[in-house]
Amino acid sequence: MNSRVTRIFCIGKNYADHVAELAHLGHTPDGDCVVFMKPPSSVVPIGTDIELPRGRGSIHHEAELVVQVTGGGNDIPVDDAMHWVAGITLGLDLTLRELQTSLKKAGKPWELAKAFDGAAPLGEFQPYLEQDLQDIEFTCRVDDELRQHGHTRDMMFSVARQIHIISQTWALRPGDVIYTGTPAGVGPLVPGDDVVLESPQIGRFAWRCR
Ligand code: ZN
Repeated sequence: MNSRVTRIFCIGKNYADHVAELAHLGHTPDGDCVVFMKPPSSVVPIGTDIELPRGRGSIHHEAELVVQVTGGGNDIPVDDAMHWVAGITLGLDLTLRELQTSLKKAGKPWELAKAFDGAAPLGEFQPYLEQDLQDIEFTCRVDDELRQHGHTRDMMFSVARQIHIISQTWALRPGDVIYTGTPAGVGPLVPGDDVVLESPQIGRFAWRCR
């Protein structure tokens, strides 16, 4: 299955170990998550190379569980949220890290660092079969080097809570996608790198960077 992506919501600051690793950049933990968006035009499907932006500083991989919903509208209760999940996959929330840090310091929005063309490599959606989405293990390897090894039990905001939170501001529609946050180990990508996202519960997805 790969239904059309309508909107892309992203959750930031959802794994404590990742929040801690960015503390030296002045990204302060406050116990809350961040919600931001990428345009659907930032998707890089499987079978397409990732075109890295040039001359704008380091581009970090953030490996994430991604879910797609069938709708649900506004104010979805946490207890009802999982009924709206249709598909699951893995994706990369690519981030221009230095630019993001300077935007944060200046109190400016993050789009320039998070929503550029190619900023959302996205695996193929697998049908959601009511498995426990807080029991998903996943890795990110770059040229066979293990960079990230996460487990969704370490999320501070569960997938159900994320759906609830987002639906308080946006009426969820069929095709909406949520990037659910990244664990520790984020790091730079350079042209020529092969990135592989893998989960025993979901599958394996690979891209070449150019
Ligand atoms: Zn992220």
